[in-house]
Amino acid sequence: MNQRIQIFDTTLRDGEQSPGCSMTVPEKMKMAAKLVELGVDIMEAGFPIASHGDFEAVDAISREFGDRGVTIAALARSTSKDVERAGEALKHAKRSRIHTFIATSDIHLQYKLKKSREQVLEEAVKAVELARTFTDDVEFSAEDASRTDPEYLEQVSRAVVAAGASTVNLPDTVGFSIPTEYAAFIRKVVQAIGDKAIVSVHCHDDLGLAVANSLAAVEAGARQIECTMNGIGERAGNCSLEEIVMIFKTRQAVLPYETRINTEHLFSASQLLTSIITFGPQPNKAIVGDNAFAHEAGIHQDGYLKNKSTYEIIDPKSVGVPEGKLVLGKHSGRHALADRCRELGFTEFTKEEIDVLYQGFTALADRVKGVRNDQILALCKEIMAKRAPVSA
Ligand code: MN
Repeated sequence: MNQRIQIFDTTLRDGEQSPGCSMTVPEKMKMAAKLVELGVDIMEAGFPIASHGDFEAVDAISREFGDRGVTIAALARSTSKDVERAGEALKHAKRSRIHTFIATSDIHLQYKLKKSREQVLEEAVKAVELARTFTDDVEFSAEDASRTDPEYLEQVSRAVVAAGASTVNLPDTVGFSIPTEYAAFIRKVVQAIGDKAIVSVHCHDDLGLAVANSLAAVEAGARQIECTMNGIGERAGNCSLEEIVMIFKTRQAVLPYETRINTEHLFSASQLLTSIITFGPQPNKAIVGDNAFAHEAGIHQDGYLKNKSTYEIIDPKSVGVPEGKLVLGKHSGRHALADRCRELGFTEFTKEEIDVLYQGFTALADRVKGVRNDQILALCKEIMAKRAPVSA
């Protein structure tokens, strides 16, 4: 079986629609450029029917990045209006994907959609057929799949594949699954549709299992993972891109799966996102947190200094964590500060801006022991705020 895992990034869609994470079109463009550099296979740029801004973002991203080897995806409910709007927004992308969805669980059918299983099945098929008139690359998602009757889910999956979907996504929309259960559930659909389509997963972190569930699904035959930088997304968030990718890379011997992510851009992608939205990853967040590679305890430091492998399973350089990332002190020079800003994703400061930044930095360094990245980021944001606003 093919061991290549497609990374479907939804930072700009599921991530963006969560509290504190909304982005303007220019901000989305900036993040999109970073995701292209990171090497995501599919970038979900928005939900065009949801708002004018979302449409505009998908359209702008399609024009700018639609020929860079990345597939641009847009979300659409399984209605003709939604699908047509998505098709329109993706018009300028060379590689485009319409991602259409409808809920399939009885809970959603009864309380939200007030539709029968037959109706939902019919609408799903119709939406996929319509989407295929805009692009050959159509993904169907069975919302709340993990709480759907498996027999019915299999029936829907077969039907949408017959209608032309090449990816079937089975989300754990409410973050309710556990790995063993989710794996068995995924395996059943993988077996049912064979190599006619890729099975995808989209996990939420309500029980802190989004990454574990995604990994279990891959071992059960899923070949696409939907994820976000810093794990942002609805409620407790989505599967974290940096974590799942580094699991494959670090544990190659037991997990022979490949992604095309350029992992040395992970840290700067995380920092860039932090600079755009209202919060960053918690300090102890795996891979990209401020403390992820910090060795504070005496025994750990001692071992680490004798040989890094005693306490370090990932080379910080492999995820782009800058050398000596932890603290810059009051003896650090302008050059080190400028370097740090670049590593944090601020590549375009002028010499004058660096001067202003440096004044703020030294004032802060006088007061605190060491200046952390989040404090430097705050200074960078102040500089950006002083600039003239970017026109949309
Ligand atoms: Mn979601």
